[in-house]
Amino acid sequence: MKTIEARPTTRAVRLRRWPAGTGDSLLRERPESLADYRASWRPDIGFPALEQLADLCDRVGLRGRGGAGFPLATKLRAVGMRARAAGVAPVVVANGDEGEPASAKDRYLLRYRPHLVLDGLTIAAHALEAQRAVVYLADDELAAAVRGRLGGLDGPVPNVVLAPGRYVAGEETAAVRMISEGVPKPTAKPPRPHERGVDGRPTLVANVETLAHLARAVRLGPDVIAAAGTTDEPGVTLLTVVPDVGEACLVEVPFGVRLSELLRFLGVGTEPAPAAVLTGGFFGGFLPRSRWDVPIGHTSMRAADAALGCGSILVIRDGCPVDVAHELLDYFAEENARQCGVCINGTRAMADALGRVAAHQAEVEDPDRLRRWSETLPGRGDCALLDAACRIVSTLFAHTDGALQRHLDQPCATCARGHERRPRTRFAVGLARPSEGER
Ligand code: SF4
Repeated sequence: MKTIEARPTTRAVRLRRWPAGTGDSLLRERPESLADYRASWRPDIGFPALEQLADLCDRVGLRGRGGAGFPLATKLRAVGMRARAAGVAPVVVANGDEGEPASAKDRYLLRYRPHLVLDGLTIAAHALEAQRAVVYLADDELAAAVRGRLGGLDGPVPNVVLAPGRYVAGEETAAVRMISEGVPKPTAKPPRPHERGVDGRPTLVANVETLAHLARAVRLGPDVIAAAGTTDEPGVTLLTVVPDVGEACLVEVPFGVRLSELLRFLGVGTEPAPAAVLTGGFFGGFLPRSRWDVPIGHTSMRAADAALGCGSILVIRDGCPVDVAHELLDYFAEENARQCGVCINGTRAMADALGRVAAHQAEVEDPDRLRRWSETLPGRGDCALLDAACRIVSTLFAHTDGALQRHLDQPCATCARGHERRPRTRFAVGLARPSEGER
C-alpha cells in the first residue's frame, strides 16, 4: 500500500493491513468524499437512542482508543445521566489532538476518513441530544480539511478548535479547558468532563478512532464487527508501529493477533531481534521479552501488565533501552504542562539521572534515586504524565533484561556507536502536506 510521506521533522508512516480477518477496512488510499461514504456505509439507517447506542457499544466491546481504553457505553450513559439531572444539553467532542509523537492514526482518520469520524460524532450527538459538537485537533492544515467536510451533516455542525500541539493538550480535561477557556492544560479530577465539561456542561470527549468505530458499529451492525477479532474483543484496531530505525507503519489488525506475529509481519521482529519493545507509546512502558507473544487487545494486554493505550508500539532495534528511556524522560520534562511542581521537578530529575547513567557518568545514588522516584511519584500530578514517566523508569529496571545494570557495570557499545539524532525524539511520525487531489 502507499507510503504517506512525513513532514521534515518526522518519518513516513506506510499503510499496512493485516493479511486476513480485518473485514471492511478502515484504511483508504485517498480521502473519502461524502458521496463515497454514503454509498458504502448506509447513513440512512438513522440514529439510535442513547440506551440502544450504549447497548450496541457494550455488545461490540467498544473501548476508547485514545489511551485509557475506557468503555464508551459507560461514558455515554454517564454524560446522559448528568445532563438529564442538570436539565441541560451536553456537549460532544471528537478528540483528534494526538499529542503522542509516535502515533499517526487519528490524523490519518481525520484526513482520509473524515466522514466516518464526523458520522460517529453526529451519532453520539443525537443519542445525547447535544446541541454543540466540537472537533479538537492540533494541525492547522487538517483543521482546514475538516472544516471543508462539515456540509451535509444531519446534526449540530461542529466547530473546529485548534490545540497548540503540546503533548498533554489532548488529555481530556486539557481539551475541555482549551475549548472553554483557551488554556490547554489538564485540571485536577474530579470533576471529570462527564460531570463538568465544556462551558460547565456534561461533555463526552471521545477519541476520533473511537468515533470511527462507533459509526462502523451503527452502520454495519454488530455481526459484521464480530466477524473480526476475538469473542472478548471483537473488531479491529489501528496501530502505529515505530521502530527506532527503518520504516514506521500504520497498520490495521484484528484484535487477538499476537504482538510477536505483528512485528514479524512488519519486518521489525527479527534479524536483529529488538533490544526492547514499548507498548502504549510513551505512556505504556517497556514490555518484557517473555510477554511479546501477548494477543493485541485492551483486556489481553492489561492481563499481561501491558498497555494498548493509543495503539502506538515502539521497537528498539538499533538503540539502547537506557538511552531511549533518557530520551523519553527528557521529552516528558520538556512537554509537561508546568503546573504541578512535583511533575516539573520529578520528570527533570529522572531525565537528568538517566542522562548521567546513559553517559556513564552516574552518581552512586542515581540507581536508588531512580527506583525511589519511580515508586513514590505516581499519582501526584493533575494528569497521568508523571505516572507515565515513572512507568518508563520502573519498567526499564524490571523489563529490559538488566539493560540499566549493564550500563552501570560497563561501557555500552550501542551508545558508543551513537544513533541518528532527530529533533526532540527519534520516534515522531506524522502525515505529509496533502497533494492537490487530496485536499
Ligand atoms: S502532572 Fe505534569 S503534565 Fe500533568 S498537569 Fe501536572 S505538570 Fe502538567
